[in-house]
Parts: sequence; structure tokens; C-alpha cells
Amino acid sequence: AVNLRPESRRFAIDIGGSLAKLLYVQREDEARQELGIKKLDETWPGAQLSVHIPEIGFILNFFAFETRNINDLVKFLRENWGSGISSKDVRATGGGAVKYAENFREELAVVLNHLDEMDCLVRGLNFLLTKAQREVYIFDHEPLLSAAMSEPASPSVFPDLENSRKFVDASDDPFPYLLVNIGSGVSIIKVTGFGEYERVSGSSLGGGTFWGLSRLLTNCKTFDEVIELTKSGNNSKVDMLVGDIYGGEYGKIAGLDASVIAASFGKVVMKKEAPDVYGWAGMWKQFVRAIKGSSYLWLNFLLSTPALGRFLRWMGYDKKTQEKLANLGLRSAFSANDVALSLLRMVAFNIGQIAYLNSKRYDVQRIYFGGNFIRDHPYTLAAISFAVRFWSNGETQALFLQHDGFLGVIGAFLGNDD
Ligand code: ADP
Repeated sequence: AVNLRPESRRFAIDIGGSLAKLLYVQREDEARQELGIKKLDETWPGAQLSVHIPEIGFILNFFAFETRNINDLVKFLRENWGSGISSKDVRATGGGAVKYAENFREELAVVLNHLDEMDCLVRGLNFLLTKAQREVYIFDHEPLLSAAMSEPASPSVFPDLENSRKFVDASDDPFPYLLVNIGSGVSIIKVTGFGEYERVSGSSLGGGTFWGLSRLLTNCKTFDEVIELTKSGNNSKVDMLVGDIYGGEYGKIAGLDASVIAASFGKVVMKKEAPDVYGWAGMWKQFVRAIKGSSYLWLNFLLSTPALGRFLRWMGYDKKTQEKLANLGLRSAFSANDVALSLLRMVAFNIGQIAYLNSKRYDVQRIYFGGNFIRDHPYTLAAISFAVRFWSNGETQALFLQHDGFLGVIGAFLGNDD
């Protein structure tokens, strides 16, 4: 049974490279506490998530904050619970539990009791697999799945997620299985029993890569904005497809359909540099680009005007701007939504493939995907499901979790004495 005494036991924290997760546990019969949700919504819309697990009689309230704003989490704790948790141990996992231990001690007088990250992930997942109903699901949306390789996004095939989840029942004996946890990076863990596991592989191309490159290549301010963009994207404008190389499918040898991605982002290579246009037409073109783009595009527009342009060139702004624009110019030839979808599929396909290869290597049939990279994003679910199905010739199906991003914090909450 889960013990909620002392009071600090109600909390657990998992601070990863990208996100800091908080769990606050209440008993079913307790009055629901109104937490500072409103303020939270400004930090990260939809950050709060609560789940009721009737099997254990508890309500688990989950919150997430961006780790770069770790003080928001500290403030959130202080404002909602104040002295209730002070000078007590709070169970915590993830690298940030070590890195930010001082912040918690100084600001809240809270001592973080650090638990091993992999232990917590596995313990959290084992708990959900054996105790929670309607937790594990298969993404079952054929139109999106069959469009997963490179077809343009079509809002009309956009799934109503509730009806696209096919739930799998909890089981007393879920072993062996692979956990592919997609956080900032990727960990692949083979689990053979309660507390019995081995981290067999991993990848540095994970959620952090997707989100990091998205920040570089698009103007998105939040992760959810990028995900929104992907929904109107067409990655075949950015990716080099088999059809782009062959002018059709490469059927004879490999059975590769024309729509298969040959090289993610390869179409950027195929693009010819646009010649710069001078005179009035050039000025107009630069003006339009400047409206759409950054301060360098504005500078370039001003450079294209006769008198001011001559002055700015004399001041040496020409060369600097041209250097910056060499990159920006190529960037502006691609739309952010296409780039976002291409990135998402690149990262998700790659992880799906590595996951499948490891399931073969260790002869494990069940593959669970966790981590906040997934959440409930249809394209991510479709791309991972598609990759696993494609590489396994339809033999293996990717398994997802309703609380994919909170495995570690659940494990930390349960502690070592479950
Ligand atoms: P970690 O413990 O390494 O922080 P998580 O499992 O919490 O890993 O997943 C972090 C990843 O989740 C990010 O790299 C990003 O791809 C994705 N993500 C989902 N939602 C957000 C968000 N609101 N802000 C930032 N990243 C998010």
C-alpha cells in the first residue's frame, strides 16, 4: 500500500534536461485542492494533468515545467503548499534533482532525496502496467498511419484521439518488455521483472534534438506551437523522396515506393540558389521578404534602396548582411510547417527503427514508448507506430502509455520500498 505519511511523501519530483515533472498525490476521500492552475497555464498550457487510479484509491496530480524555468516549479510549490513541505525529504529523480538540490534547500528548505533515474522509470512503468486500467494503448488510426511516411498532412484525416486509442488490459506479468523512453535523449531499457532491468541502448537523437532544431529552424516559442505547425506541414517539400531521385518508384530492387523518404531534409540540397534581383523588382522582393522575416531581411531591403543603400554599403553593412542572409535565404525557401513535420518524422522514424532493431537483438516482443516527446501528438504516435510496423513487416506494434512523460516521477513517488 502507498503511504502518504509524512506529508512530504505526497510529493515527488523528476527534473530532466528539458522538463521538470511534479507529482502530488491525494487520497480519494480528500477534498480536491484548488491548485494554482491558472498561473500554471501561463507557464505551460495544459501542464496539469490529474489521474485517478481507483485500483489504489489515489488521485495523482501531475505537473510539468520547463527545466530552464526551474524557479517556476519552486514558486509553484511554495505558493500552493508553503510550509507544508518544508524541512522534509522529498523524493526526487533525474539529473536536475542533483543539479538544483541547493535551490530547493535555499528557497523551500526542502531536502531532495535523490533516487536513481532508471530505477524510477522502470518502477513507474511496472506500476502502471500492473495496476492501472486504460493505460496502455495501440495507436489505431489507419488513414494517418498509412500516410505516415511522407504524405502531406491532411486535417481531414486528423484523428479524434479518443477513438484512435485501442487500450490493452493491465497484466500481472508484463515481462519481458523494452521501454523506449524518449525524453531529451533516448534510453532503451530491457525489463525482465520487478526491479530487474538493463539499459541496453540509447540515442542522442531524441526529444531535445527535435525541440532544439525546431527552435533553430522555425520561430516557434513553445513546443506545442511546433506540434501545431506539423499539423499543416508537408514534409515531402523538405525531404528527398525516392521519387525525387528516380522520378518514380524504385520497385525492381528494393520495393521502395516513390513516397519513401530517401534522405530527411535532402530537398534542401536539391534547391538552386535563387539569384538576387536588383532594381525596383529586387527592392519589392526584398521588401516582401523583410515583412515576413527577421531584422537581416529588413537590412537587406534597406540595402536595396538607392541612396540609403549606398550609405549602408559604405558603412560596411553589405558584407555582414550577405553572410547572414546566405543561410536565411535558403531557410526562407522552406516553410516552417513543412520543416517541423520533416523534423518530427525524422526523429520519430529513427527512434522507431532503433527500437525495432533492439527488440530483435534481445528477442523481446513488447515495446513500450514513453517520455514527454510523445504525449498525445497524433503525428508522433503515427510515425513511431508506422516505423515499428514497417521494419517488422507488420509483426510488431508500438505500445503507448497515457502517462508516458511521468514514469520517472511515479517511480520516485513509490520509492525503493514498493
Ligand atoms: P527529460 O526528463 O529529459 O526532460 P521528458 O520525458 O520530460 O525528458 O521529455 C522532454 C521532451 O519532451 C522535450 O525534449 C520535448 O521534445 C518534449 N516536450 C513535450 N512537451 C514539452 C514542452 N511543453 N516544453 C518542452 N519540451 C516538451
